[in-house]
Amino acid sequence: MSMSGFVFRRDDRWFGGAADLNAPWLDLAESRLRELVDYQGGSVPTEVAELLVPECREELRLRLWSRLRSEDLVPVPGGCEVPWSGCPDHGDLMEGRAASSGWWCSDPGHRFGVDVFGRLRHCQRPAIAVLSGLEGARTLAVCEGHRYSEVELASYGGEPVTVTDLGSGRAA
Ligand SMILES: [Zn+2]
Ligand SMILES: [Zn+2]
Repeated sequence: MSMSGFVFRRDDRWFGGAADLNAPWLDLAESRLRELVDYQGGSVPTEVAELLVPECREELRLRLWSRLRSEDLVPVPGGCEVPWSGCPDHGDLMEGRAASSGWWCSDPGHRFGVDVFGRLRHCQRPAIAVLSGLEGARTLAVCEGHRYSEVELASYGGEPVTVTDLGSGRAA
């Protein structure tokens, strides 16, 4: 099995000191995680599914606190507006797999993985296009990967999405 193009992101932050499990950014991280799980349907890594039961709430907050920082949850100027990270090429076409930890790109030709909490970082890739006609009539600035996945996923639902490419001058 070829390992080329395989990326696994790991946060080396040491876990120390007292965790502030009431920090407002943790509420945001937790609600993003729940939103992401809804968005994903059934295709969620086992370790995420296990943490979402009410008895594990404190454990979940502790894990979020130790693996993320508040600035991981915000977009960058001129950046993609999708509130979580995906595959650089295929965006949110990610899935959990029974035999391994984390999220994996579901494109059959692409071996790309990101750890469970790494996926919760806001996408910070430069926006290259704006999508309109999405559910809720909103517009969404997207990076290359998220343009691919949003158009792909909208097409399953039969939604007509308009893609407006941004000039190269816009990319930050
Ligand atoms: Zn991919
Ligand atoms: Zn993106």
